[in-house]
Formats: sequence, structure tokens, C-alpha cells
Amino acid sequence: MQFGGIYEFKEVPCPLCGYSLIIPVFPGYRISSRCPRCGGVLYIAVGRDGGIRIRGRSYLELVKEEVLRIAKENINKYLEIGGKIYCSYCGYALEKPKIEVSEENGVIEAYTVCPKCGGKMSWVTQEVSRGTQIF
Ligand SMILES: [Zn+2]
Ligand SMILES: [Zn+2]
Repeated sequence: MQFGGIYEFKEVPCPLCGYSLIIPVFPGYRISSRCPRCGGVLYIAVGRDGGIRIRGRSYLELVKEEVLRIAKENINKYLEIGGKIYCSYCGYALEKPKIEVSEENGVIEAYTVCPKCGGKMSWVTQEVSRGTQIF
């Protein structure tokens, strides 16, 4: 609805936590934003008819995905050079290192545990804070 360039605003609940978001009903409006309460990443699209579509993804899940992606990239680089990854503790050769992702005290880490000695090789660590902008 348009009144001399002023658009209506609509209250829409965050799909992740239910927090009321105020969105301008501007046809064709598209934005990705963060929910101020849960920190979830929201993809908002307003249709021509003023209908609002909103998708949400947990910020933590997105950071985990990104950490996993970077870890895979790093490992692939090593594999391209040497064909194998050698445990930094015992020298065991890992042909297909298994990547694990953990979250502890607001830090997400991607790592591989050596099947022989149990040594932990860290690939990526990323601190998570609700206010951190990743886009
Ligand atoms: Zn939320
Ligand atoms: Zn080892």
C-alpha cells in the first residue's frame, strides 16, 4: 500500500524465535538481515502483492558450514601437494581425513583426530558472537 511514497510496515515473527520484526511492505523488497533477538540470519522478500516471505537460518549453523567449507579447502590443498596428510604428532598418513566440528565456549573448531595416536589436528577455529557480521 502506498501513500505518497510512504510505505506500510508489517509485523512479522522471526521464523526461528518468534521475535516481532518490522518490515516495510515495499513490493520487490529483498534483504538479508539478522534477528536482533536470536541472531538468526533472515532472508526477507516482499512480493508484488505485498506478501512477505521470510526464511531464517540459525547463525551458528551458518558459521559451522563456513568453518567446514574452509577446513575442506585447506585439506584439499594439502592433498593436492602431498596426496596424503601426515599426523603432526606421530606421522601417520591419512588419505581421507575425517573432519569433525565442535563448539565450545563460543568457539567453533574444525579438526581431525588421528586414528592411530588420537592426536588432534586443528584446521579452522572461528569465534562466534551474536553481533559478528558475516555478510
Ligand atoms: Zn529470531
Ligand atoms: Zn597420530
